[in-house]
Amino acid sequence: MNKLEISHVETVIVDLPLKRLQRFSALGSHTQSVVMVFVQTAEGVQGIGESVTPSGPWWSGESVETIKVIIDTYLAPLLIGANTFDLTRLMAAMDKQVYANRFAKAGVEMALLDAVGKALNVPVHTLFGGKVRDSLPVAWPLATGDPEQEIGEAEQMLADGYARNFKLKMGAVDADTDVARALRIARALEGRARVRVDPNESWDEATAARAIPQLADGGIEMVEQPLPRWNLAGSARLTAASRIPVMLDESICTSHEMQEAARLHAGSIVSLKIMKAGGMRATRTMADIAMSAGVTLYMGTFLESSFGTGANMQLCATLADLPLGGELVGPLLLAEDICERRAEYRDYCLWLQDGVGLGVSVDADKLKAFRRDRTYSSHAADSTTRQAS
Ligand code: MG
Repeated sequence: MNKLEISHVETVIVDLPLKRLQRFSALGSHTQSVVMVFVQTAEGVQGIGESVTPSGPWWSGESVETIKVIIDTYLAPLLIGANTFDLTRLMAAMDKQVYANRFAKAGVEMALLDAVGKALNVPVHTLFGGKVRDSLPVAWPLATGDPEQEIGEAEQMLADGYARNFKLKMGAVDADTDVARALRIARALEGRARVRVDPNESWDEATAARAIPQLADGGIEMVEQPLPRWNLAGSARLTAASRIPVMLDESICTSHEMQEAARLHAGSIVSLKIMKAGGMRATRTMADIAMSAGVTLYMGTFLESSFGTGANMQLCATLADLPLGGELVGPLLLAEDICERRAEYRDYCLWLQDGVGLGVSVDADKLKAFRRDRTYSSHAADSTTRQAS
């Protein structure tokens, strides 16, 4: 098969309830919303993708609502009638038509790769050169802000065999309170777990320069994105002075930013995320630049469903060197998921699932139950708004 003509593109926003409040520096949320992207081909192969943000536009400027509008209005019309195998040309056309909006493009690319994998009867990791791992050690986010509750939560995750790496989300309160909270948790878990922190750009350089040595003294393993994303020079100074590694996340969303951060030694670890890079192939490019520059890889998350988590694992499976693992734990936070077969966690790891394409499928009943009630379907030139079933 060398032709897969795209006949229909549909996006659906799905609101999935979380097991508990997830707090970020900017806000908290009780639900996680994703955009499912369905690409249908004339040959009968369907590709599915997922776009997701961390509970709204605070991270990248994109939200599930903007993702849906961008795909329906601007990206889908470029795809109708095109050959799914022309992935490089299609992604270039999308970049020409729409500036940035990488989270939207990532969901579309994921669906195209899923279709290509299914048509060729291979898993998507084969399209990236094949797997070198079947599992990824995962870190659990501690994000309620109450250290006693968080210690109990970590103990439970350890006992259940889900995670022994923990990452504290910070920045909702002042740095001193957050540092005290981190040290309290690190003491309670000492010798049994690794504890990391992520202030999500909340600190200025002076605050970070004061806080990071305290965190290092208290046994914290790594600090993620302490400074605003633009401050690579400040991050380079912190990296040079710090006894624990500084990981960059918000600062590195493109291959150009990866290159610049590596040139400035602005961090020693990069958090890779398919969404922020604009797709799996762009993420792989960033990983290759990082590896060639001696920057350590880490697999971040935007709290994908089991679907997006499976897609992430396909790419992750091709990356040999992930010494700190990653944090693809979205499905463990979800009270309800979108897949027939939920992501598999055991032995403190997420496991690669067998199957062609992305190896994951959507449960039609769950889609029906949790979709937002109005959907907008882009089909050829005739775009219509209709009531969901
Ligand atoms: Mg982060």
